[in-house]
Amino acid sequence: MTDQTHPLTLYNSLTRTKEQFVPQDPKRVTMYNCGPTVYSYAHIGNARAAVVADVLFRVLRHIYGEDAVVYARNITDVDDRIIQSSKETGFPISEITEKYARIYNEDLAGLNCLAPTHQPHATKHIDDMIAMISDLIEKGNAYESDGHMFFDVSTYEAYGALSGNTLDALRGGDRVGEGEVARKRNAADFVLWKPELHGVGWDAPFGRGRPGWHIECSAMAKATLTETLETDVIDIHCGGVDLKFPHHENEIAQSCCANNEDKFANYWVHNEFLNMGSEKMSKSLGNVTLVHDLLKEWDGEVIRLALLKAHYRSELNWSEDLLRESKAQIDGWYRSLLLRKKELGDFYSDKSDSHFINMTNLLFDDLDTPEWIGGVSDFSEKSTEEFESVISIITENNWERNSTNLAGAIGVLKAFLGTFHILGLLQKDPEEWFKGNTSSDDQAEFDAIAKRRETARAAKDWPAADAARDEAKALGIVLEDGPEGTSWRKA
Ligand SMILES: [Zn+2]
Repeated sequence: MTDQTHPLTLYNSLTRTKEQFVPQDPKRVTMYNCGPTVYSYAHIGNARAAVVADVLFRVLRHIYGEDAVVYARNITDVDDRIIQSSKETGFPISEITEKYARIYNEDLAGLNCLAPTHQPHATKHIDDMIAMISDLIEKGNAYESDGHMFFDVSTYEAYGALSGNTLDALRGGDRVGEGEVARKRNAADFVLWKPELHGVGWDAPFGRGRPGWHIECSAMAKATLTETLETDVIDIHCGGVDLKFPHHENEIAQSCCANNEDKFANYWVHNEFLNMGSEKMSKSLGNVTLVHDLLKEWDGEVIRLALLKAHYRSELNWSEDLLRESKAQIDGWYRSLLLRKKELGDFYSDKSDSHFINMTNLLFDDLDTPEWIGGVSDFSEKSTEEFESVISIITENNWERNSTNLAGAIGVLKAFLGTFHILGLLQKDPEEWFKGNTSSDDQAEFDAIAKRRETARAAKDWPAADAARDEAKALGIVLEDGPEGTSWRKA
């Protein structure tokens, strides 16, 4: 442990090493994350990618300042599955995409994900995509075949650098088969533009049609992050490891060729898979868990902590036990907060505090959230003992005499709690936390029971006080007696 702030290191999938992160311009740090295709609900695997990116966003904001980080996450609102869904259900495309984009944002907000700086919609950037494709045609990187525009991977020598699927490696698997493959020069060529489907399309110099998925991200990243800059290289591109190939590889090929750059992003940050127990999550196995459903049962902070319990570069085995364990842990932290609420006040920390630095250093080491959670738990236990001894003196009304001890103990706790803020945890009022998901009728009833116990205790009517406690227990709540009276929380 040291009092020095470590530089941020990130594992760069492109170089396959952990590197110190150096932005091109510390006053304008850019990151891009592939967003959802909005035709259905997001599952918990989607949420993992979004939460990992959110932690990175928050860490960068902490280091460089809130206004210095520009984060773009797109909405793919044109896609075959969306068009198909519209045809089957009879709902207009915009109604489907707006609905699921709204739900996606609500679900992520429920997980305490900050809104990205930019959330470009693909349909609002068709002109940018057409411009980029035109550029690629002019440079000889794209060709027309059977009404489609394809990117010719053989024109981009560095193809495969990110995933290892180089042109040589891919050539071995070359095959000329049916459908799209038959239209292509190389098996790895990918579509930039395809003919309209069920009347959905836009006019372009190379024919009326709609964009391929890969070109969307390249065009939107440029439009939102680098359009006004001299460089078209972004600092960080993140996303799930499932997108590394072919999606990210294709983004790199298009962007580098169109932008005349040898890189698309300086750092590529990929999070690993989320498994359901020991199985992959898949529709055919029927084990797809939606964020929307989880949020009905669990507080978003519990889900968030559960997602952060594995390092982002390790696979995460999702289970009910993981959620239960996370809830118990957060309950414990909130309980500490509740006990000390009056003394702590606003707990945002002093960035120069050594405890704070030590805790944040764990995050700066390639976002090591499991180490951080372990560190927090150790620290929580130690500081609780220290704090309790101070608190016991306070309750004896020796405030004045012990103000130095108190300030020290509070300082330590503020440091510790401040790092929660960076991770987007413990963002609620502790009282609200324990009363969470209780209807106002129930709240009134629980308040009345607590009041009965308080009154009985004041009158030293112990049988009545015990009766109130038992009644509360039967309703699944716990009464807690404190210097300011009796309060309740969910058991
Ligand atoms: Zn993308």
